[in-house]
Amino acid sequence: MAGGALAQRARIYDMIIRNGEVRDPGRNFRQRADVAVQDGRIAAIESEIPPERGREVIDAKGLYVTPGLVDLHTHCFYGASGISVEADPIGARSGVTTWVDAGSFTASQVAAFRRFTVGPAQSRIFGYVHLYPDLRNPDVDVVKYVRSSVKETGQAVEKNRDIVLGVKVYVGANMNGRYSLDFMKIGRELGDQFKAPLMVHVSFTPPELPEVLALMRTGDVLTHCNNGHTLSIVDSGYSEKPGNLRPGVKEARERGVWFDVGHGAGSFNFNAARNALRLGFPPDCISTDLHTACINGPTYDLPTTMSKYLYLGMSFDDVLLRSTYNPAKIIGRVQGLGTLEVGAPADIALLALEEGQFRLVDCQRNAVMVRQRIASRLTICRGKRLTAPV
Ligand SMILES: [Zn+2]
Repeated sequence: MAGGALAQRARIYDMIIRNGEVRDPGRNFRQRADVAVQDGRIAAIESEIPPERGREVIDAKGLYVTPGLVDLHTHCFYGASGISVEADPIGARSGVTTWVDAGSFTASQVAAFRRFTVGPAQSRIFGYVHLYPDLRNPDVDVVKYVRSSVKETGQAVEKNRDIVLGVKVYVGANMNGRYSLDFMKIGRELGDQFKAPLMVHVSFTPPELPEVLALMRTGDVLTHCNNGHTLSIVDSGYSEKPGNLRPGVKEARERGVWFDVGHGAGSFNFNAARNALRLGFPPDCISTDLHTACINGPTYDLPTTMSKYLYLGMSFDDVLLRSTYNPAKIIGRVQGLGTLEVGAPADIALLALEEGQFRLVDCQRNAVMVRQRIASRLTICRGKRLTAPV
């Protein structure tokens, strides 16, 4: 036993992050502690780990040491889909270590997504495949056409379960017009047949939200939940009026449907988010829907989106839970992802809670001044500093 203790004492770690405030909301862990990293995994969390035991020592004094951020809704099929951004350089400056692409690629592009996006990235990348290849041919019956691609799309999920989480479906008058509900029904059939969870974009009626929710099952994700549009979870739109949850919303959560923010260029409204919180219906996941049309505002990055919920009164731990543990649970591919438990992947964010005067803007250009914002100081992924590729 003495020998064991001695060996334990002599152990040298790849990296030690010292003096930080460790926050691991998935297991309610919050204390000042040192974190040791070895072979890409969390090796120890103790109140004091001597610096001489680390090959690299990082001082996190005054910072929060949290699980690497997990962004459930992004577009990062960079270089292939026009709206996509590149994961690693953005993650390096924003604390995000895991990215989920929400339908920027089609079934026939899964191989390219794997080889050119997932493969070379330091970050962890997953995705939902788009429901259908494209709708550029106006001469075809589009519903028939989408139905004809079900097999190919379902098989793309089946053969790539390590990186493909399910199928992305767009529902809204501005997206697929009058075909939205038909596409949603096709998505449902595909989901059932191939055991593929759906991520469902909602924006404007028709169809009505209860019709959409009726087709959603346990494990499916409704994204853009605080958009304030007609397909929003609260019926008071962009107004300050408290409003009510639309029919079927509560029941959907009870049966295991997840509600995701997906901020983007048009899908986050302060009043809509505030009213949902007042009605006791916070989102399960806080995500960016980051793409080229929102990365220079109003979204910018995940810490900025998280700061908006902090401003709306959500606690730091609750915000963090929704941008680490919860989305990691939905991904469900990596043991310990979204936590800092010993043995979990060493995906770590060093975050600062900055005090000052900061301007935050929603998608309807409503601006607020806030006194606190979350900012990233260092991103560690798979036990290594995440750096922008040169
Ligand atoms: Zn999106």
